[in-house]
Amino acid sequence: MLDVIIKGGTVVDGSGSEPFAADVGIRDGKVVSVGRVDDPSEVSIEADGSIVSPGFIDTHSHSDFVLPANPWSEGKVMQGVTTEVVGNCGMSAAPVKPERLGLFKSYVAFLCEEGLRWDWEGFGEYLDRLQERGTAVNVAALVGHNTVRTMVMGFEEREASTEELEEMKALVSRCMEEGAFGLSSGLIYAPGIYASTSEIVELCKVVSARGGIYSTHVRGEGEKLIDSIAEAIRIGKEAQVPVQVSHLKASGRSNWGKVSGALKMVDEANGVGLDVTFDAYPYTAGMTTMTAFLPHWALEGGVEGLMGRLKDPRVRGKMASEIRGGFQDLAKDLVSDGGRSVTIAQCKTERNKKLEGMTLFEASKLRGKDAVEAVLEILEEEEAEVSIISFSMCEEDVKAALVHPRGMVGTDSIDLSRGRPHPRAYGTYPRMLARYVREEKLLSLQDAVRKMTSMPARKLGLKDRGLLRPGYCADLVVFRMDEVEDSASFDDPRKFPRGIEYVFVNGNIAVERGKFLRKLHGKILRKFPSAS
Ligand SMILES: [Zn+2]
Repeated sequence: MLDVIIKGGTVVDGSGSEPFAADVGIRDGKVVSVGRVDDPSEVSIEADGSIVSPGFIDTHSHSDFVLPANPWSEGKVMQGVTTEVVGNCGMSAAPVKPERLGLFKSYVAFLCEEGLRWDWEGFGEYLDRLQERGTAVNVAALVGHNTVRTMVMGFEEREASTEELEEMKALVSRCMEEGAFGLSSGLIYAPGIYASTSEIVELCKVVSARGGIYSTHVRGEGEKLIDSIAEAIRIGKEAQVPVQVSHLKASGRSNWGKVSGALKMVDEANGVGLDVTFDAYPYTAGMTTMTAFLPHWALEGGVEGLMGRLKDPRVRGKMASEIRGGFQDLAKDLVSDGGRSVTIAQCKTERNKKLEGMTLFEASKLRGKDAVEAVLEILEEEEAEVSIISFSMCEEDVKAALVHPRGMVGTDSIDLSRGRPHPRAYGTYPRMLARYVREEKLLSLQDAVRKMTSMPARKLGLKDRGLLRPGYCADLVVFRMDEVEDSASFDDPRKFPRGIEYVFVNGNIAVERGKFLRKLHGKILRKFPSAS
């Protein structure tokens, strides 16, 4: 007796091979049969004319600061995501130390869901909390370098001492023992930005020894893109660690077209035997913290340090003049278009909620200031807790990354109960299928599905997910290829997609006839199952 049978669908099994007609039988959370299945079943689903594929694995999510307070991941599940990889861009919710927690919390406040309790310290303890409360999706977590550096050194702009490096290595090692899938870095964000390449290499050696990966938001995604990809590859080579470049892109108008050079380097690295892959999202806008406009030194000492500097007219003037001088790509675009390509996504205070959805240009006009002064003023009023959406990429670069054979798909998203999310939190996977597979025919359906399923599973070392085969976990999506479409837009970002009919998480129905069932069927995955 089966639990579920999905009858008459077209299976795209995640391996990249041709679609084929088959029924799928599910029992005890696993796929047990693929082919002609006639066994009796508790539930029978007609999938005639629909595609049946493995559930999508979101290689790049920032839900770690949301899930302990809001476990539903509704926007993800409704687009077919069954596993989220969290802890990206150097920022993980664990490990934390009580004496550094305040400093850390103020910096990551823009990522945190209301009511987040921070009732953990160690990495394993964080995973335990998630497991106890339940999650709608499976979760695989990376440990963030920024988190680890903050716990050991605070927000200090300097090299780590030998003792500090040893302490960071010990922390990373412990996280790996407790179930982390690898280390992430965010080398444009404080305090990761203060770290040398060799610091990352040393930490990655620890990760490599324990079979993990290195996932990196590289040091520069614009003018410094090529050097930054070179740094990521060097780290992979010196530490002998598999590399995942996060949200590969060329940011800033003067850098458009540079993605092809970066992809060439990825190819060359693989050519000499390194394991270098990446993820990308199908949008020309990114989302980040407004502090990303600031020079490095402005964030020394964290948000408190920044607030002190903003109150000192001389230092504030220095900050403004560096931004006006276009010291990096975001700053350059801000100066050249006065903030027309940046919208404000989320503010902390009630008085500035009205800015959400406005461009920085509009916000600065409202204040009678130029865009640079408006940025500093808003950061001060919001105690740095502001998110922005920046239309900084070109379509050609986005497409080049999405179709490249080493590229996977990740949302890079966060969806809080306040503010406005980036529409990628609701539309990434349907958009990839609708726009780039069905409409533009840039890649085949089976290739797109492979990028969303078995590629990330293999990279992470998830041995029983990412393929639709007997013995694999029954994380599945049933969708209409003729109807699938993202509906979320920048103006209306919380719209669910069309065409996703069923989603299964560990054999349980999570979406039924397009309706979210609000069930917590996810598992907290650990790199070493023995630790759970
Ligand atoms: Zn990032």
